[in-house]
Amino acid sequence: MHSKNLKPSSLIHPQIRSLSAYRVVPFTGTVKLDAMESPYGFSESLKKKWLELIASVEVNRYPDPTAKELKSKLRQVFEVPDSLLLTLGNGSDELLQLIQMAVGGYGKTIMAPQPSFAMYEIIAQYTRGNFVGIDLDENFQLSQDSWLSGVERNQPACIFIAYPNNPTGNFFDEKLIEDTVRVSDGLVVVDEAYHAYSGRSIMAMAEQYENLVIVRTLSKSGFAGLRVGYMMSQPSWSTEFEKIRFPYNISVLAQESAVFALNHWEEICQNTETVIRHRNSMISHLERMGGIEVFPTQTNFVTIRVKDENATRIFEELQLDGILIKNLHGYHPLLSNCLRLTVGTDDENRQLLAALGRCL
Ligand code: PMP
Repeated sequence: MHSKNLKPSSLIHPQIRSLSAYRVVPFTGTVKLDAMESPYGFSESLKKKWLELIASVEVNRYPDPTAKELKSKLRQVFEVPDSLLLTLGNGSDELLQLIQMAVGGYGKTIMAPQPSFAMYEIIAQYTRGNFVGIDLDENFQLSQDSWLSGVERNQPACIFIAYPNNPTGNFFDEKLIEDTVRVSDGLVVVDEAYHAYSGRSIMAMAEQYENLVIVRTLSKSGFAGLRVGYMMSQPSWSTEFEKIRFPYNISVLAQESAVFALNHWEEICQNTETVIRHRNSMISHLERMGGIEVFPTQTNFVTIRVKDENATRIFEELQLDGILIKNLHGYHPLLSNCLRLTVGTDDENRQLLAALGRCL
């Protein structure tokens, strides 16, 4: 092979060179509770009908670029008002990227609370934006003064607020979100990834303010593998986002399967209710264990701090037991000795709690 004396990395932008690829710890065990997946997909009877449907899908054809049927089902099931339009993404990750491609980039500031969902900052880096994080207080809340003065000082082109927040599990004050939208001359993105579990939304606010958009996902409701995210915004925004969305970003299999899931949403919601029940009993169990600080959560995960203990040691011991959770220690000073536990099936949760009890 003829090779020039050229280092590919020298052609890569420094902001990309300084990044590490998003690391997902390989799962080799038996209990996977690290990524906020729902433990429940389709029931056996739904799976049978779904497979029949999938058999008729024409994979030789491109998907519908407008995803008309899927959008109409999403609108119906999630009661999206006519004044808001939908933009779909290959997971909500893709929508977060689409937003930054449209309003971020060189010379633009992107702001988010810290700690929060890592992709806001990663996307800001590789789209050449300037990321500013504003630290939460020790109760994982946004302090009104430092947040709003941060908005005024930094004039961000785009602000991301996860509602509820990952990895802390809590809501931020709704009034503070509204004040943010009022104070900001940029776009405010409220990420409702955990909407299925939190039951709260600021959709009504998005009807009122043009510079507020909402991003959601089907991932946490049992369909992480389908990769379907949806954004609700006023038409002036969706017109622009549509210009940079790949026309076939939602595959035929994802479109058909998501429509099928939405046609059976009542049954899917029962799974969500089950996970919420499991979460609540997991919280009571953890609180009884002692030596653990359990943070309030409105999601399908529980974030804990192990007191007088080493979270990394516990994470590694659980891994040896075949249980994968998320070690948050090292991501941010506020997360010291914190672990994030995704809620699984009754059996998985029992195994996790028993192993945790042995470790402590
Ligand atoms: N937003 C938040 C707050 C998340 O926690 C996640 C997933 N962990 C996502 C967005 C991305 O979800 P997806 O790409 O699967 O839709």
